[in-house]
Amino acid sequence: MDKFDVIIVGGGFSGLLCAKELSAKNLSVKVIEEHNEIGYPNKCSGVISSKTMQLLNFPLSKNIVENRFSKIVFYSPGSIKLSLDFKENEIFVLNRYNLDNYLAEEAIKNGAEISILSKATSFLQNDNEVKIKVNDNQILASNYLVDARVLLESLI
Ligand SMILES: Cc1cc2nc3c(=O)[nH]c(=O)nc-3n(C[C@H](O)[C@H](O)[C@H](O)COP(=O)(O)OP(=O)(O)OC[C@H]3O[C@@H](n4cnc5c(N)ncnc54)[C@H](O)[C@@H]3O)c2cc1C
Repeated sequence: MDKFDVIIVGGGFSGLLCAKELSAKNLSVKVIEEHNEIGYPNKCSGVISSKTMQLLNFPLSKNIVENRFSKIVFYSPGSIKLSLDFKENEIFVLNRYNLDNYLAEEAIKNGAEISILSKATSFLQNDNEVKIKVNDNQILASNYLVDARVLLESLI
C-alpha cells in the first residue's frame, strides 16, 4: 500500500496550492482528483483583488492573468449610473484553467503526485495514519489528510 506524508482530496485551486506549498517543504504529497483533467470543468470567473494577487504571488506570465481593471460602472434600467473605483486595489481576472495547471505543474516539479480520475470514496482514521479508499478499489495511506473538495459532504 502506498503511503504519503499528506494526501489531498480535490485537485482544485485549494488542493493544488496546498500541494505546491507542502511539496516545497519536502513532504511527500499525493493529490486525488476525480475529474479527468486539472482545471476542467471550470466554474469560476477568476476575479480577485490585487491584494490577494500580491499575497499569492503568482507569476504574471503563464497566461494566468486574462484581464485587469480598476473601475466598474453599473447602468440601471432607469438610467441611473453607479461607478465603483478601485484605483488603490486593482481587480485581476485570472484564467482558472491555466492557474490550476500552473499550480499542478509546480507541485509536480516539487515531487508531488497527482492522480486524475480518482475519486476518494471513504476514509478511516486511527492513531498513526489515515487510510483513503479511492475509486472503491484502491487504498492509500497518509499521515495527514487534506479535504479540499469544495462540497463539504461527508467522505464516510
Ligand atoms: C460560477 C462561479 C463563479 C465564481 N467566480 C469566482 C470569482 O470570480 N472569484 C473568486 O474568488 N471565486 C469565484 N468562485 C468561487 C471559486 O470558484 C471557489 O471558491 C474555488 O474554486 C474553490 O476552490 P476549491 O479548490 O476549494 O474547490 P474547487 O475548485 O471546486 O475544487 C474542488 C475539487 O475537488 C474535486 N473533488 C470533489 N470531490 C472529490 C472526491 N471525492 N475525490 C476526488 N476529487 C474530488 C473536484 O472535482 C474539484 O476539482 C466562483 C464559483 C462559481 C461556482
